[in-house]
Amino acid sequence: MQVFDAAASAATLDPAAMMQEFAAGDPRMAALVEMMQAQRAQPCNDVAAPDERDELIVEMSARLDAAEARLTKMTRIARQLHEAGRAASQRLSNLAAALGACGLCWGDDPACLGCRGRGRPGMVRPDPQIRAELFGAQSPAREAAMHSH
Ligand SMILES: [Zn+2]
Repeated sequence: MQVFDAAASAATLDPAAMMQEFAAGDPRMAALVEMMQAQRAQPCNDVAAPDERDELIVEMSARLDAAEARLTKMTRIARQLHEAGRAASQRLSNLAAALGACGLCWGDDPACLGCRGRGRPGMVRPDPQIRAELFGAQSPAREAAMHSH
């Protein structure tokens, strides 16, 4: 008890010593104390008055909010574009299958690994099911098939 009292009375008299004591046990506290001491030793030269500092904080805070809002909006747009691209690609792929075309290049790319540039519509037998889904029962292929049998 005596030891505690002596230590307490010595420490409580000196704020700097108290801060050192706080900092001793906790690294985050140590960083904070270091920051506070640095700030006291060298008052911010960039911004003179506390009012200006407050204004700066408010402005920076507003800019951060605006940036976050923009980021949220951009993320949403990117997601929508990705989804739209995926849907369009799927639809185009189905159309290629329904027309018997190369789904990779539609016959436009001589270097195409799927068709070597020969994949224009009609290259392969159209997929009857996809064709029916896209064009309905009245699709030319279905009609031709019905007439020929
Ligand atoms: Zn191709």
